[in-house]
Amino acid sequence: MTELVIDDLQASVAGKQILHGVTLAVRSGEVHAVMGPNGSGKSTLSNVLMGRPGYEVTGGTVTLDGIDLLALPTWERARAGLFLAMQYPTEVPGVQLRGAIEASFAASGRDVASVATLLAEEAEAIGFDAGFLDRPMNVDLSGGEAKRNETLQLAVLAPRIAILDELDSGLDVDALRAVARRVERASRDGFGDAEPLGVLAIMHYSRLFEELHPDVVHIFGDGRILESGGPELADRLEAEGYGAWDIPTRDASGGPSAAGDPFADPFADPLA
Ligand code: ADP
Ligand code: MG
Repeated sequence: MTELVIDDLQASVAGKQILHGVTLAVRSGEVHAVMGPNGSGKSTLSNVLMGRPGYEVTGGTVTLDGIDLLALPTWERARAGLFLAMQYPTEVPGVQLRGAIEASFAASGRDVASVATLLAEEAEAIGFDAGFLDRPMNVDLSGGEAKRNETLQLAVLAPRIAILDELDSGLDVDALRAVARRVERASRDGFGDAEPLGVLAIMHYSRLFEELHPDVVHIFGDGRILESGGPELADRLEAEGYGAWDIPTRDASGGPSAAGDPFADPFADPLA
């Protein structure tokens, strides 16, 4: 069994503290939903986990089966079994999906000759036009095409833990169902004879939620998890909104702020 363990993770970007202590664990076969308001740091979490440049870890640990992920460059995190489907996939002119996947297979000692068949099979499973395989990655793709492209990479690379950052944004109903079913199948059966995929899916309450059937729901706000529970938490969120959770406000540096407190004295000594 594979386990991604995030413990008290803190991170800043552009001089602003965004993650204020995220703690959670995802194991093989589990589907976790992370739901939080815009700007609360969900994408920052996914970027920090994958090691995107520009994000500085200021505290806490992340391990994958005991391996210190934060000490590894992004490509080694990927090789260790972590995958990120980005909210806004980066355009990579001059690089085709097929070539990128072949390079990845070669780097991890997998059979490069199997790539063509795998790509064709997986593209068909999610209704993705094979013509995209030889186009520059993510260049001029519609939102839905980009998300199918991410899902195709996920399915072919066969990671052990996948982070999905708003995988459903921009997808039409049919594409959403195809993509969600592919991920769900992986979380049930795994890829080939591998163990089932563990999933950390950042999402808003949506069709994706209904299709993916998360086991665990985390309410995320202010750069940390405010509450974790079962699917009933998402129902409560739907009914009451994020107002049901007391989310602190922050100043420009990400420090505690009195701005959200209507009774705060605007002339008080901030250092007092
Ligand atoms: P969410 O995904 O929950 O909507 P984000 O993690 O994208 O939130 O953003 C959290 C905060 O961090 C926002 O205030 C955003 O502007 C800021 N932020 C995220 N990434 C960067 C970056 N690369 N440079 C500057 N600010 C960033
Ligand atoms: Mg985001």
